[in-house]
Amino acid sequence: MTTTQAPGSLPTARGGAEPLGAWVEFHQEPCRSGRTYQILVNHRTHVALDLSASEAGLCQQLGTGGRVETTDPAVSAFLSELREEGFLASSPPPAKPGRRLTASLSALDVHWSGADRLVRAAHDRGARHLFHPAAVAIQAMLALAGLVALIAAIRSSHAFQLPVHPAQIPLVIGLSLAAIAIHEFAHALVVIHHRRPIDAAGVRLHLGVPAFYVEATAALVLTRRQRLTQAAAGAWAEWQFTAAAAIWLWLAPVPAAPIVHRFVILNALTIASNLAPFVGLDGHWLLADAIRMPDLARRARGSAGRLATALAEGEHVPAGDRLLAGYSTLNGIVAIALLAGAGFLWYQLFGGLTRGLIHHGLPGWLALAAAAAILARPTTSAAAPRLTAAARSGRALYQAIAFRLQWRWRIPATRRLAATVPQLAGLSDHQLGVLAGHLRRTRGSHLDHLTGYGIVQAGAVTATSAARTPMTLTAGDTWDPRHQLHRAITRGTVLISIQTAAIEQLLRSPDGDLSTCP
Ligand SMILES: [Zn+2]
Repeated sequence: MTTTQAPGSLPTARGGAEPLGAWVEFHQEPCRSGRTYQILVNHRTHVALDLSASEAGLCQQLGTGGRVETTDPAVSAFLSELREEGFLASSPPPAKPGRRLTASLSALDVHWSGADRLVRAAHDRGARHLFHPAAVAIQAMLALAGLVALIAAIRSSHAFQLPVHPAQIPLVIGLSLAAIAIHEFAHALVVIHHRRPIDAAGVRLHLGVPAFYVEATAALVLTRRQRLTQAAAGAWAEWQFTAAAAIWLWLAPVPAAPIVHRFVILNALTIASNLAPFVGLDGHWLLADAIRMPDLARRARGSAGRLATALAEGEHVPAGDRLLAGYSTLNGIVAIALLAGAGFLWYQLFGGLTRGLIHHGLPGWLALAAAAAILARPTTSAAAPRLTAAARSGRALYQAIAFRLQWRWRIPATRRLAATVPQLAGLSDHQLGVLAGHLRRTRGSHLDHLTGYGIVQAGAVTATSAARTPMTLTAGDTWDPRHQLHRAITRGTVLISIQTAAIEQLLRSPDGDLSTCP
């Protein structure tokens, strides 16, 4: 069940804190494994806060007029965050004027905050009928016919033309713009249909190609079913458009047929990839609500790093957390693959134009440099967070694997050293943990430089003891710094050791700081 309080339904709080503003909405719903998903949405600033259980309890208290204890530092910090972000009745954010058009040259973005009226008008003047069961049935038939036409397009004798001639660029961009406009309009239409507002719409340059977008914070507080429809609507509507183009191509002569043929096949691929269940794509929202985890993206963020730490510290990690970490890593890999795909398609679209410009010598190069300077900024600002997230997941995964593999030998070796070397007997668990991190594994051919204490992990070595007695050490035997190494007598001999200096420093600093040790 979803309990949603309409804006303005939160009455005045008595006691130490002010009530929430009438423009603020508290939303909670039960989700996976008995948890409750709770958010607070500011309909004026279009900011949504994910709430912890205690924060949600506090918001409910503010809503029902209960007394709020403000001497607790955590509560005070949360209340000041609410005040600063304009969530409290006493600190309203300035109401934004409608129809405001803002343009950002550096981001190559035109942002229109009056889009709500346009979509609402379209909805009320006819688009609402698209939700009628009969209309949905017709859409389903068009979608299926489009699938048949797509197969026909793939199997047709038309050669698939990937590179674009400079003269064809406007048509290619025009078709793509129409598809994206329909996609975004459909997302917005579902929000409006469920009597919720759209924050803004706009158009920005993405990799040198214009792309529309729609913003709607209120989509977060739709019911789960409504959110699933809203997430699917974009791809569904875009497919209707692509299907119509495919059917036209199949049944009648089409002007610029090679470009329409290219559009049908590439856009079918685009729609399919957008439905892949990874963060940043519509498929992620579908997955999140299908598995009843609306905060999937937030929970996956940083989960690979947390898994690495937990594994390194030998903690038990629940299966759910392992899955989240795997999902987070896949998100990073998919982000890189999508970026590479976008770069490849960009080259197919603008490669001919670029080569043509280079052919014109200096003026051509200057034009290229100017275009690169203008286009690079929004592209890098869009790609940078994805790439850093991907790099972070990759590093965390590498560490997790490395730790997993290394701690298999580090822990038993530390236990064995602590049991046999008298100096180590008094070390705390924490100090032993630090010691484990500083063990080194040396293989047969590098044993000559061996100093400090150690353990033979595999194979055997011959040596002379401190009392000048010849001896053979085999797996499990302890190495003493006073031993003189003779040689390894089996291939694959491995010694795990720690330098005497490291042990001495560890004994001097009880907090186990070995930062200056080699
Ligand atoms: Zn979409």
